[in-house]
Amino acid sequence: MTADAGLPRDCYLSPSAGDGRPPLSEIFSALEPLLPAGWRQIEVATQPAPSGGSLPIRAYVNAEPVDAVLIGGIHGREPAGALAMARYVPRLVERGGSLGLLLMPLLNPWGYLHHIRYGPSGASVSDSDHLLGHRPSPACPEAAAITAFVMNGVRIRPGAAVLDLHEDPVYEAPDYQFEGSGSYIYVTGKGAMAHPASRRVRDCLDRSRLPLVREGVTRFGERLADGVIVDTADGSIDELLARRVGCSPVITVENLLHAPDSPPLAQRVEVYLDVMEAFFGAPGEELPCAPHSS
Ligand SMILES: [Zn+2]
Repeated sequence: MTADAGLPRDCYLSPSAGDGRPPLSEIFSALEPLLPAGWRQIEVATQPAPSGGSLPIRAYVNAEPVDAVLIGGIHGREPAGALAMARYVPRLVERGGSLGLLLMPLLNPWGYLHHIRYGPSGASVSDSDHLLGHRPSPACPEAAAITAFVMNGVRIRPGAAVLDLHEDPVYEAPDYQFEGSGSYIYVTGKGAMAHPASRRVRDCLDRSRLPLVREGVTRFGERLADGVIVDTADGSIDELLARRVGCSPVITVENLLHAPDSPPLAQRVEVYLDVMEAFFGAPGEELPCAPHSS
């Protein structure tokens, strides 16, 4: 029996998303080696499973204060980040030897299972508008729990770097036109554009099979400047981490999807594995860390 013997049976089904994504159970089991390596697993929130029971929204922390945060799976039609993080676990164990890391690989398992952008209540699971002064109360229960966790449930140091792996499923909004294919990034936080990790991620994408799209306008009306959107204010958890926790750089990666499998999911996962290596840096250029107390 594994630690996940209690997962609802939906977790063992292959979602019919059209991109070949694996069952949720495969992601959860790929993360299990973090625990014997000394990482703490926290159940931040849950979502209802269709067949009864609940789908866990989990975070993993190896040491505090946290020097770097990895986020994936916020939107259900954007699986590449969560899958890449699951595959990156052996490297995370190594990276965690010198860094305090917070991993939140799959913040919307319900969306992953159903191939739907938002959570069951129709809102973004990590919407942070209530803590950014834009709305009086959390958009949904997951947003309340996830934002409370990053603000109060874990010690993230100011200046910690953040990588949030999204994708941009152009096809999910019928009136959204974005020609071309490839990637783009958001970079947020004090001095974030000048940070070596921002440059490394940007260069990595530009050399990848999903090179930077130089110009265009996203469905949210943001204009790309040479593949980058700087300091956006979108009410996301990325904005929260930059503005309320002092994280920098906060790097959000997107790649343009014109269908669930175009470009192929396997290719997107490979690119995101390279992006994580670039984010952390090669020997001699790694992310800086603070002294750890736990
Ligand atoms: Zn997204």
